Amino acid sequence: MRGWSKNQRAQNRVIGFVPTMGYLHEGHVSLIKRAKELSDVTVVSIYVNPTQFTPDEDYERYPRDLKKDHERCADEGVAAIFQPANDTMYGDHHKTFVFSEGISQILCGISRPTHFRGVTTIVAKLFNIIRPHYAVFGQKDAQQALIIKKMVTDLNFDVKIEVVPTFREKDGLAMSSRNKYLTETQRGEANVLYRSLLLARDMFFRGNHDLTAIKKSMRALIETESGARIDYIECVNAQTLGPPRPEQEETLVALAAFFDKTRLIDNIILPPAKTLK
Ligand code: AMP
Repeated sequence: MRGWSKNQRAQNRVIGFVPTMGYLHEGHVSLIKRAKELSDVTVVSIYVNPTQFTPDEDYERYPRDLKKDHERCADEGVAAIFQPANDTMYGDHHKTFVFSEGISQILCGISRPTHFRGVTTIVAKLFNIIRPHYAVFGQKDAQQALIIKKMVTDLNFDVKIEVVPTFREKDGLAMSSRNKYLTETQRGEANVLYRSLLLARDMFFRGNHDLTAIKKSMRALIETESGARIDYIECVNAQTLGPPRPEQEETLVALAAFFDKTRLIDNIILPPAKTLK
């Protein structure tokens, strides 16, 4: 992989990179398409990274379909797939991790305390191996995208981060490899997450900027689906993940909910209220 990238760089080619855990869907494809617009050659990594799963999570049963993934990448004109083995990425004595203080310990970091440490570590490693000019991430994982941007700034990585809007199913459910776990009933209920985000947007656009009231209404709506168990619903500053300032700045409305053992996340960004007047 290093040799390939070095060769591309020697030919002055711009390298775009899309990190994934495979089981590719339309959301991943929209990232690949964006990477292709930004670069001459696009690399996709397919790696189910063990360090971003907590021990009780779905690492072992995370869906995998490498044959289909390769076909999808070929259809999209991906120049190279990087698909390392675990012992390539983590030797027996791996001791070094990248950790973003604060921003990795809120929202999803509360119920997944070691998750973002795994994400920043693997992405740092992939950046060092692939040395892309651009790396493309999805807005669906809004906290992840912000943490990666912060890591790039703080550790002086020479890569530009691009974030692509969330790609959704027809009924609004954000596409995710984990949607495969849902039973038919759960799949029918799961679009309540997006409906609750639309409700938030609707309230906000109608002039209700009381985020506590908005969260309460979202909670009530999600609770109408008996299969849903809310992990969190939060409104934070969309750039810093700190306290929101809905009048002046963008607000990220983010949520996570379980359908049985399947944990789904979604979010939207509300514009500064002052721009709506
Ligand atoms: P994953 O394979 O789930 O680790 O995701 C790889 C990349 O695809 C991450 O940057 C995700 O944010 C992005 N992604 C996943 N689902 C979607 C989606 N529905 N829309 C846009 N990007 C997505």
